[in-house]
Amino acid sequence: MIFSKSVLFILAVALIGLTFTGCQPEKKQPNIIMFLVDDMGWQDTSVPFYKEVTPFNKLYHTPAMERLASEGLKFSQAYSCSVCSPTRVSLMTGMNAARHRVTNWTLKKNMSVDAKDTILTYPDWNVNGMSPVDGIVHTVYATPLPKLLKDAGYFTIHCGKAHLGAISTPGENPLNLGFDINIAGHAAGAPGSYQGTNNFGNSIDNKNNIWAVPGLEKYWDKDINLTEALTIEAIKAMDSAQAKKEPFFLYMAHYAVHTPLEPDNRFIEKYRSMGLEEPEARYASMIESMDKSLGDLMNYLEKNEIADNTVILFMSDNGGLSAVARGGTPHTHNKPLSSGKGSAHEGGIREPMIVKWPGVTKPGTENDEYLIIEDFFPTILELAGINNAKTVQPIDGISFISKLKGVSETNDDKALIWHFPNNWGPSGPGIGSSSTVRKGDWKLIYYHKNGYMELFNIRDDIGESDNLAEEKPEKLTEMATLLSEKLKEYEAQMPVYQQTGEKVKYPDEVLP
Ligand code: CA
Repeated sequence: MIFSKSVLFILAVALIGLTFTGCQPEKKQPNIIMFLVDDMGWQDTSVPFYKEVTPFNKLYHTPAMERLASEGLKFSQAYSCSVCSPTRVSLMTGMNAARHRVTNWTLKKNMSVDAKDTILTYPDWNVNGMSPVDGIVHTVYATPLPKLLKDAGYFTIHCGKAHLGAISTPGENPLNLGFDINIAGHAAGAPGSYQGTNNFGNSIDNKNNIWAVPGLEKYWDKDINLTEALTIEAIKAMDSAQAKKEPFFLYMAHYAVHTPLEPDNRFIEKYRSMGLEEPEARYASMIESMDKSLGDLMNYLEKNEIADNTVILFMSDNGGLSAVARGGTPHTHNKPLSSGKGSAHEGGIREPMIVKWPGVTKPGTENDEYLIIEDFFPTILELAGINNAKTVQPIDGISFISKLKGVSETNDDKALIWHFPNNWGPSGPGIGSSSTVRKGDWKLIYYHKNGYMELFNIRDDIGESDNLAEEKPEKLTEMATLLSEKLKEYEAQMPVYQQTGEKVKYPDEVLP
């Protein structure tokens, strides 16, 4: 091959250029905000995620979410797990909960939170959560998402609820997971109090309150809501990243809107004057409080002229609480979805999700294809320009970058799996030890206690009121076979029947 002198000259200049810029990518790495709300239901917003505007959409006020949806892409079938820790560990590891085995929520070292049961003995799940180091008992050892981002040059900020590892294990501290900064995150999954006037649950006479929010002493005794304090601190951390001229990953993981249901005094009177029961008025004020935080962050990005280079992903970690603590009728707070937090029904797992990727997601658009929480892991890596990341764990999630780019994909080849071999406590529709598969329009739930199966066509029956298990035996067989295959692939743990000492069988082994 013969090059002309001018071509050689251009090549030489290009090589010198590469030498001087090192391995800096040509395109600036985008800032990434993962805005994860706790226990927020699919309908807890004025943004409609159903095909029609619902009474709940009219009740709640979330102007910042409306703004984000108008500027970004709304997902109507985004899923998490049905309780906190499994979702959070899937987000941080890219693994399905059946594989990582942090299947219920974590808190104390070597202690399961499973409520006692007379029929099933629950498996030896990873009660200590995730761990960035090998050899910690009852943990899943994994390379955490923030570590990969940090290694790629990101300034990584943890703000709010962590709930990734049990007390006195490495995973309890976000700084051990690759975060440069930890604001108020620790092992517990709820705040002692949302009120600065209550020191966020810290009290002088009770120093061992495990729910007391750490690290916000400067706000103690002040009339400030926890959600507001976290937002102020997150903005300061983004300022630090700006000063360092580093791209940032902000994991804005609000404690809101988890219990305790406490009023945000800035918003509560509006809802009380609407005549809502007190728990519902408080809940609505917490939703609006969370939404104001989103708006404040969006305003910060615009004021600092970095909105065009910042991706925002909005998501919730499980369905809206409905079995306990709420006003009104239990299991109805996510209508048209059935049930709520802790349930395999849609109310427990379907989440409000919005993504704004400036210049890529089309403003004000919607995507109706399903995805699940572990899919965020490879997606965020791809957004950050990280290819071939080395992780000690297998990645089950599938990047949804192409969905953000507006490429339509069929759902039919992909199966989503949930596995909850545990006992959350309360009872209600879809609540209890179970395994679940979604493929295409179909969803099968297999209940471990009695082998009962529910088969729903989610497109026709979003409220999961019409069990087609008897009517559609071929579909039942197909879904049970698929679920069994996936459970085996993930090496899912099955509970044991106390009476016989036998393991709960896979669903395809108990078909009628
Ligand atoms: Ca939660």
